[in-house]
Amino acid sequence: MLIIGSHVSFNKNEQLLGSVKEALGYGSNTFMFYTGAPQNTNRSDINESLIKEADKLMKENGIDKNKVIVHAPYIINLANDSKSYDFSINFLKQEIDRCAKLGIKNIVLHPGSHVGLGELKGLDNIVFALKEILKDDKGVKILLETMAGKGSELGKTTDELKYIIDNVNRCNLGVCLDTCHLHDSGVDLNNFEEYLKEFNEKIGIDKIGCIHVNDSMNGISSHKDRHANIGFGNIGFDTLINIIYNPLFEDIPKILETPYVTKMDDSKERVYAPYKSEIDMIKNKKFNSNMINELRVN
Ligand code: FE
Ligand code: FE
Ligand code: ZN
Repeated sequence: MLIIGSHVSFNKNEQLLGSVKEALGYGSNTFMFYTGAPQNTNRSDINESLIKEADKLMKENGIDKNKVIVHAPYIINLANDSKSYDFSINFLKQEIDRCAKLGIKNIVLHPGSHVGLGELKGLDNIVFALKEILKDDKGVKILLETMAGKGSELGKTTDELKYIIDNVNRCNLGVCLDTCHLHDSGVDLNNFEEYLKEFNEKIGIDKIGCIHVNDSMNGISSHKDRHANIGFGNIGFDTLINIIYNPLFEDIPKILETPYVTKMDDSKERVYAPYKSEIDMIKNKKFNSNMINELRVN
C-alpha cells in the first residue's frame, strides 16, 4: 500500500493532534513535521493528552505512527566544530528526546555544512557528533538526508553518506532520499535503477527510511535546492511516479515538501497548500497540468 503524506505544521495549541488533522485533510496516511520553528530553539512542552488523542485519530484512520517523521531543525550543523558545535549536538539530543516523548521513531537530519573546514574534516565532525548523539538508544532513528550540495553541504554523494554511516556504525542511523536534492546533486533520476544499484552496493537499500518527493526548479547538477510542485519542475511527473511506486519502497513513507502556491484569486493574493491536489495526482498516477489554477479555498 502506498504510504504518502506531506510536511505539516505542529502548533503549540494542538501539537501532534493538529498535525494528524492537517495530514488527514490532504488524504495522507503519513506525515512529517518540525517539533517547533526550524530556525529557532523555542519549543513548547509536550502535552500528553494531545498525544493520546492524536494516537486515537491515527489508529482510526490507518496511520502507522512508526512511519511518521520528524525533521530536525536546520539550525543544527554537525559538520563545523568551530561554531555552535556543542549547541548543535545538545539540541539534536533534545529533539530526539522530544521525538521519544511524542512516540515518533524517525528524525530526518541534514548532515551539515563544513563552511570552509574542508569535506573530510566536516565528515569527521559529523561522525564524532553522531557517535555521541546515538550513544544511548532512545528508540529514535536518525535518517541522514541526501543533499543538493548547495554551498558546503555534505551528504551530496553516496560516498559521503557511506563514510558517515560506516564510521558511526550504529543500526539506528539510516538515510532519507530527497528526489529534488538527488537531481540537483547530479543524479539522473530517469536512470534511477542505476543510482539504486550503486546505493545498494555502497550503503544498502535497507538503510532507506524515508523518501522526500519533490520536483526541482533547476536543472540536473544545479546544486540549488529549490523545490517545485510535483510535475511542474525539471524532474517531471512520470519519473517521480516511477520512484514513488518502486516495489522496493512499498513500506517506506513518501513525504512531499513542495512549495505552497501564491496566486491572485478574487483580486486578493492567497496562499494554498498544494498537498491534497498533489497526493490526488499521485494516487491517480495522472498529472493535472491545471492543478495550480484549480487550487481554491474550501
Ligand atoms: Fe530536509
Ligand atoms: Fe527534503
Ligand atoms: Zn530541499
